[in-house]
Amino acid sequence: MTENQYTQDRQTDRQTDRQTDRHLISILVPCYNEEAVLRQFYARTSEVIRGIPDYDFEFVFVNDGSRDGTLAIMRELRAKDARVSYINLSRNFGKEIAMIAGIDYLQGDAAVIMDADLQDPPALIPEMISWWEKGYDDICAKRRSRAGETFFKKWSSHAFYRILQHLTNIPIQPDVGDFRLLDKQCLNALRLMRESQRYTKGLFSWIGFNKKEILFDRDARAAGKTKWNYWKLMNLAIEGITSFTIAPLRAASFLGCILAFVAILYMVYIVVRTLLYGGDVAGYPSLISVILFIGGVQLLFLGIIGEYLGRVFNESKFRPLYLVKDYNGKIMIDQKEARK
Ligand code: UDP
Ligand code: MG
Repeated sequence: MTENQYTQDRQTDRQTDRQTDRHLISILVPCYNEEAVLRQFYARTSEVIRGIPDYDFEFVFVNDGSRDGTLAIMRELRAKDARVSYINLSRNFGKEIAMIAGIDYLQGDAAVIMDADLQDPPALIPEMISWWEKGYDDICAKRRSRAGETFFKKWSSHAFYRILQHLTNIPIQPDVGDFRLLDKQCLNALRLMRESQRYTKGLFSWIGFNKKEILFDRDARAAGKTKWNYWKLMNLAIEGITSFTIAPLRAASFLGCILAFVAILYMVYIVVRTLLYGGDVAGYPSLISVILFIGGVQLLFLGIIGEYLGRVFNESKFRPLYLVKDYNGKIMIDQKEARK
């Protein structure tokens, strides 16, 4: 069966499904200190979905340990609108974990993951849904431009994507963020992946399925401040590389082999030269620089091995990915109750 044929079959499936019952689409929004924009986000998004009467919608907000009035706004929205539900995490777990928490709880046949700051324009939702109807499973929004970002941020993210692409076998999509519509099949696949150090962008690529990229212009933040800084971004980059490839470890083996080989050649040369011309004790500076160089390389690779060992350590604890204080106001005494 060709790829096209597959997409077409999915399209037919979805159409026949829709005739029998209405589909629910979840809008998943991880929020950390977003009191400045959350109401605006809700207002703009509800406006857009009002224009799509063929589907039911639900909002799933994840409060990722905000220290401002974000939770109060979520409660207020839920009181007004029964389509809104929220998951209140026990502390700040980071966006990656907040997303899987939302995915675990949401009930839709498909879900759109969006940032609360309106950088992901809700106006794109209808287009995403139309591609979903056409049989695609993962419709991702690709940034055509990045308003409000510095030259250095654009350059560094470009460089990072290139490096990651070279190091891993799975095709990681450049300039594609978390803003996407995922079919239930993809959502279920993501629910299976319980690794605690998550690089979600890579996971989206890893799961595969039928992907479609649509282009959009990423706006600047509507209000509030970005939660990212270069330190966090660099950590995310290391996360991305170490969770998807062991290429750095392999590089250590290769470099070790090359250095050893060169050392053997040099040793043979020294022995032959000493036999022919006698020995001398010159060469102290070159000796020191070689020792320092090798020492540096060893420390570097020890660090890299440590990076992977740390991951093994973290994953081997098998802790739950997140803890929930309450779901729509219902206190989670037993975390196992979590998903209904
Ligand atoms: N976010 C989160 N937990 C965090 C940091 C961020 O849930 O620890 C959410 C944040 O509320 C927003 C989204 O992730 O909805 C993207 O964050 P931000 O806009 O700060 O990132 P940027 O757009 O600058 O990459
Ligand atoms: Mg943002």
